[in-house]
Amino acid sequence: MAKVNTVLGQISADELGQTLIHEHLTFGYLGWDCDALAPPYDREAAAKTCVEALKEAKAYGLKTLVDATASDAGRDIELQKIVSERLGINIICATGMYTERYGKPGYLKFRSQVYDITAEVCETFVKEITKGIGNTGVKAGVIKAATGHGKISAYEEKMLKAAARAQKETGVPIITHTEAGTMGPEQADFLISEGADPKRITIGHMCGNANLQYHLSVLDKGVYIAFDRLGIDLLFPDRLRKACLIGLVGIGYADRILLSQDHGPYWLGRFFEFPDAAKPLLANWSYVHVFKNIIPALKEAGINDNKINTMMVENPRRLFSGE
Ligand SMILES: [Zn+2]
Repeated sequence: MAKVNTVLGQISADELGQTLIHEHLTFGYLGWDCDALAPPYDREAAAKTCVEALKEAKAYGLKTLVDATASDAGRDIELQKIVSERLGINIICATGMYTERYGKPGYLKFRSQVYDITAEVCETFVKEITKGIGNTGVKAGVIKAATGHGKISAYEEKMLKAAARAQKETGVPIITHTEAGTMGPEQADFLISEGADPKRITIGHMCGNANLQYHLSVLDKGVYIAFDRLGIDLLFPDRLRKACLIGLVGIGYADRILLSQDHGPYWLGRFFEFPDAAKPLLANWSYVHVFKNIIPALKEAGINDNKINTMMVENPRRLFSGE
């Protein structure tokens, strides 16, 4: 039976249950710690916020949350352990790097002027998956890979290459970040050509694009796609996400789609508030939107419980077991 690394140890893929494939607890953009007026990071405050924000999702039956925060985007493994213990849900953490634009590429870009960094980045990912992250004793359960808008930079290409190699070596799934629903087919092609198993790849943030041809061109590569920004109307209208989702499930792709919200209640840095005009467009952005609003909307459209179970339970199980 396939084993999955969670922040509290290994479990069987059968034990994942209802899974949100792409969420965050903390998130920090590069440079947050250079803001002289930012309060210092408070892990206990973060834990309280995250547990509170996740309670309702647990009441809806959430069993496993994948924290998709890359190593260079404010990931806090100790916090993930605390939240998992207090709430009694599985949390799976990620190794991997964020986009060149918003991650922390400086160290690696400097080294890449001298030699090809792919091998050492791959070693980093494999170390975090097989031996653990820092001295936390926690092993990463997914590899995060990310690319920018409309283009994969030379740096991001190296990260994808390292992710594919690390997956080949460890069997751990890759979940990706695409920007505004661009570069999905290119990511899938690149990862597969570097030896990654399509059955262990999820191309993420595909719901930032309502072009069905685009969705099908990614699905044709045998990978999973994630509608994992449900509720973020500020980035893309949820009704278009829902229309695509219902259409794709309607023509038989329930077994290739994962659902999530890319929510994160605790941002690192100075208190930040969206302008009033943006607030209604974020009203549904939470850990619970999939359970509370999306699943009922799918049922209303005639999608049965079996297909919903496929997306929420079976697909995560198969992604992590490579079936
Ligand atoms: Zn994310």
